[in-house]
Amino acid sequence: MQMSFERYAREKLAPSLASHGSPSVLLLTCMDYRYAHRIIQVMDGLDLRQKYDVFVLAGAAAGSNQVKGWRETLVSHIRTARKIGHPIEKLVVLEHRDCGAYKHFFQLYWDQVTPPVEQAKHQEQIDIFVQDMKNEFSSEIPNLEIDSLLLTRDEDDELPT
Ligand SMILES: [Zn+2]
Repeated sequence: MQMSFERYAREKLAPSLASHGSPSVLLLTCMDYRYAHRIIQVMDGLDLRQKYDVFVLAGAAAGSNQVKGWRETLVSHIRTARKIGHPIEKLVVLEHRDCGAYKHFFQLYWDQVTPPVEQAKHQEQIDIFVQDMKNEFSSEIPNLEIDSLLLTRDEDDELPT
């Protein structure tokens, strides 16, 4: 799991998106209102507008792992996107610190645990999700890539320069 979305997007995502004419990346994010605008700002700032799809589940990977119906909805959306000319071959999972879904599903109160404990729980869920999606799409997307990031809170971040 990487920590800086800005750096990841600039150094890894932008070059790979630039080489595709159609959206090949789907961002899976949490629903949390503190993050949507920041994600869009980073992508817009790198001139990546209209180059990716977005899907939202509370808890992102954890939501897919914990709620069967949410997982099925995600999987069917990826299949539908591919049918209409969005050749999704990479998922970028954006989870974040202080996540309400992690409180709901796991009673993980971010202010009551150390950052390594919080991060380990996210990594556990990412690992489950990665295995699940690779199994699900093994024949349709044999080279499916899944990257994941744990976003910091706005007030924890350095201001972008
Ligand atoms: Zn969240």
